[in-house]
Amino acid sequence: MTVGIWILGDQLSQKQAALTSCHPEKVPVILIESLEHIRTRPYHRQKLVLIWSAMRHFAEELRQQGYPVTYEVAAADFQKPLIAWLKANHITELRVMQPADRPFRQFIMAMQSQLPCSIQIIPNNHFLWSTSDFQKWANGKKSLLLESFYREGRKRLQILMVDNQPVGGEWNYDKQNRQPPPRNLITPQPKVFPADEITQAVIHQVKSLDIPTFGEINNFNWAVTRNQALAVLADFIDGKLAQFGPYQDAMVTGENTMWHSLISPYLNIGLLHPLEVIQAAETAYYQQQIPLNSVEGFIRQILGWREYMYGLYNYVDSDYPQQNYFQHHQPLPEFFWTGKTKMNCLHQVLKQTINTGYAHHIQRLMVLSNFALIAGISPQAVENWFHAAFIDAYDWVMQTNVIGMGLFADGGILASKPYAASANYIHNMSDYCRNCSYDRKSRTGSQACPFNYFYWDFLDRHRDKLTKQGRMSFILKNLDKMPETELAEIRDRAQKWHE
Ligand SMILES: Cc1cc2nc3c(=O)[nH]c(=O)nc-3n(C[C@H](O)[C@H](O)[C@H](O)COP(=O)(O)OP(=O)(O)OC[C@H]3O[C@@H](n4cnc5c(N)ncnc54)[C@H](O)[C@@H]3O)c2cc1C
Ligand code: SF4
Repeated sequence: MTVGIWILGDQLSQKQAALTSCHPEKVPVILIESLEHIRTRPYHRQKLVLIWSAMRHFAEELRQQGYPVTYEVAAADFQKPLIAWLKANHITELRVMQPADRPFRQFIMAMQSQLPCSIQIIPNNHFLWSTSDFQKWANGKKSLLLESFYREGRKRLQILMVDNQPVGGEWNYDKQNRQPPPRNLITPQPKVFPADEITQAVIHQVKSLDIPTFGEINNFNWAVTRNQALAVLADFIDGKLAQFGPYQDAMVTGENTMWHSLISPYLNIGLLHPLEVIQAAETAYYQQQIPLNSVEGFIRQILGWREYMYGLYNYVDSDYPQQNYFQHHQPLPEFFWTGKTKMNCLHQVLKQTINTGYAHHIQRLMVLSNFALIAGISPQAVENWFHAAFIDAYDWVMQTNVIGMGLFADGGILASKPYAASANYIHNMSDYCRNCSYDRKSRTGSQACPFNYFYWDFLDRHRDKLTKQGRMSFILKNLDKMPETELAEIRDRAQKWHE
């Protein structure tokens, strides 16, 4: 039997399961850049640079380890170079680590009959919970709450645990986190990397593509190797983790990254493994006396949210991406692609996304998807935009975050109530409203903030469905108290906005 390994662009780890399944043998390996794959949506140019540059650097690493590596630059599709390589190397068994994305799993299965050899899918080892372990945890449960999944993960891996109890006596220190940003906040700088020769060649290639793409490319400064990704992690642990908790949800004009770790692009392509990130944060708690609220809050993002999103993605029915609980069908406004809107919060977050491919969690949740939710935009159009616009976007992380958490289009499988908010929230957690041409306090009148009238219109349009979510009853009582004339103007403004 002659084995060959196909390494996908989000599987760039020497410890990935297909490579380790052959260890220590240095079997032939192939990596393919496919142009067909990037025609599905206008991806952010920096994402294309990140993936292709990281793939090329990884191929070099493997060559230095003695692997016979074939690398296909800008192939028209995956099939042709793959089949040619299989034949040239007389490969009888193709091994691929299980793709994280469902559509790609289906694509490989569909291709199987055209291949001149057998194919073996090796279980994915880039997550901490296997699909079947998540299934065992979820089966028979009435609700699949993050909090109970997270506690189970802490116990399973014995992270921040003493005698099977949480360190400090509590599982969750969120009450000490999520503070609004004070004025004159001094924030740390992100760790950046000048483009080396390989990255410059990819930038040149992406600039000359005749395929629709999105976003700026000239200021690309992301890590593209494992060593650089480890340097980003070390920079976060030593310089940012201590302050991560308190200002986790804060948004400040011109401050794109604050105390966030910026590691999702690397976790999602295999340059970092979730367990080493969690262990680095736990070690810092014990050795550097970093406050528990920050360490626990950060570990919960990875051991909790990230694993939960992947587990749910594999657990829910295959029609999940098409769900549309509120029957929202408005098209995505053009300004999502250009950033040109008078709404300052959206303008700032979109401008940042166009420039970097990155926005932090609350910018994504409480500005971008909150607006899309209350304005009634089609969940599938929103999901497609998020998938195109972000440097860390993949089908597995997109579906549950956008369809589930951001838009409640799954009717509450993931969230216990929709993340819908008016200008109040944005004003409390950011400085955006200070420089906006809309009045954050008004929900009617020509200067009324669209977040306000869309918010109340959303509650009004979906009163019946929202009544079923127990946690919405308090706010629905406020809706009941609103004078009918005011509500009529709110409905009218919301409707006219779309015309
Ligand atoms: C509408 C919406 C869309 C999102 N799209 C993506 C996406 O395309 N790719 C992506 O990786 N994350 C996505 N997230 C989750 C989260 O916003 C990003 O992981 C995070 O902002 C990445 O920045 P960071 O590395 O600086 O994160 P930090 O704030 O430093 O958090 C640490 C890590 O926790 C993990 N994490 C935290 N929350 C989540 C979550 N909800 N789902 C998955 N991982 C999580 C990430 O790996 C992240 O790197 C989305 C969230 C929402 C609400
Ligand atoms: S006033 Fe409204 S539109 Fe303007 S920044 Fe605040 S929330 Fe956004």
